Amino acid sequence: MSSKKPRVMSGMRTTNRLHIGNYFGALKNWIELQKDYECFFGAMNWHALTDAYKEPEVFKKYNRDIITDWIAFGIDPEKSVIFIQSEIPELMELNMLFTMITPLPWLDRVTTWKDSIDDLKKKDVCNLGRYAYPVLQAADISIFRGEIVPVGPDQVPHLELAREIVRRLNHLYKLKIPEPRALLTTNKSKEAEQKDPTKTGAGNELVILGTDGRKMSKSYNNFVPLLDEPENIEKICMKMQTDPARVTRTDPGNPDICPEFSFHKLFSKLEDRKEIDNNCRKALFGCGDCKKWLARNINAFMAGPLEKRKEFLNNPRQLDEIIENGCTRAREEGVKTLDEIYSGMGWK
Ligand code: SF4
Repeated sequence: MSSKKPRVMSGMRTTNRLHIGNYFGALKNWIELQKDYECFFGAMNWHALTDAYKEPEVFKKYNRDIITDWIAFGIDPEKSVIFIQSEIPELMELNMLFTMITPLPWLDRVTTWKDSIDDLKKKDVCNLGRYAYPVLQAADISIFRGEIVPVGPDQVPHLELAREIVRRLNHLYKLKIPEPRALLTTNKSKEAEQKDPTKTGAGNELVILGTDGRKMSKSYNNFVPLLDEPENIEKICMKMQTDPARVTRTDPGNPDICPEFSFHKLFSKLEDRKEIDNNCRKALFGCGDCKKWLARNINAFMAGPLEKRKEFLNNPRQLDEIIENGCTRAREEGVKTLDEIYSGMGWK
C-alpha cells in the first residue's frame, strides 16, 4: 500500500445486510477508488446504533456479513484498510473532543436534521446521538487523517461541517490535520454508461428504485439483497411491480414507467434492454418472461461474488484475520492522530 496516494475514508452503517442500492450507491465506487487512493473502509456500528438503540444486537450482528460482501465484490484487504468502527476507541475519543469544539449553531444549520425531524420523532430516534451524527462523521474521517470522502449530493452539508470542525481544531491547537474534500459520486446505470439515447433522469444520475417503484429501502421491504441464492432472486423478481396499464399479456406496456424495467437498466445489457423494450411495447411477451430474464441477469451478476462469499463463510478464520489486521492498522493511524492532537493541546 503506497502512502503517497491521497487517503480516502468512507463507511457504511451496519443496520442490516447490504442490498443492491448499497452496491450501486457506494460499493461499486469504492472498488474503483482503490486504484488511485489509499482507502479506509469502515463498518460503522456506532452510527447504526443511533437509530437501532432498541435493538442492541445490531451493534454486532451485521459487521462481518457486510465486510464479507465488500470483499466478495472486490474490496481488497491487501490494498485497503477494512475495520469495524467500535474497534477503534481512538475514534470515539476524538468524537468526544469534537463535541467540545463544535458550537451548537453549526449543528442547527445541518438541513438533513431539520428536514427529517418529524420522521425521527415518529421513529423515536430524535436523540442527541442522531443530532450530533455529523460530528461523529467528522471524527470518523479525521482520526485517519482522511483527505477525500466520496459522498452523494445529500451528504455535502455534513462534509462541509466536518471541514469547519477540522479547521477549528487546527486553529485552536496549531495543528495540520487535513480538511477533508468531497468526491461527488456520479453513479451511472448501465444505460448511462452505454450512452443510450433513451436515458431518463436529469444528468443521467442513477436513482435506485425498489421493487414497488418507491425508493429502495429496508423499511419499505422493497429491496433486492446484494447477494442471495438464485431461487430467492427469482422469487423477488416475480413479485416486482410492472406497468399497471399492462393488465393482460396482449396489452402493450411502457418500460419508461415500469418499476421492474428500472432493474433491467442496472443489470441488463443495452441489446437486452432494446429487445425487452420492443417486446413490451408491442406485447410480444408477458411480464413473467420479462421478470425471468431479469432474474437470469441479476443471478449472472451475483454468481462470482456469491461463490466467494460462500468460501469466506466456510473459512471464518480467514475473515477474522482480515478484520483483525485492518483494525490493527486503523488503530495505528488513530493513535498517531491523537498523539499529534494531544501534543498540540500541550498534553504530551
Ligand atoms: S414486459 Fe417488462 S418492462 Fe414491460 S411492463 Fe412487463 S415487466 Fe415491465
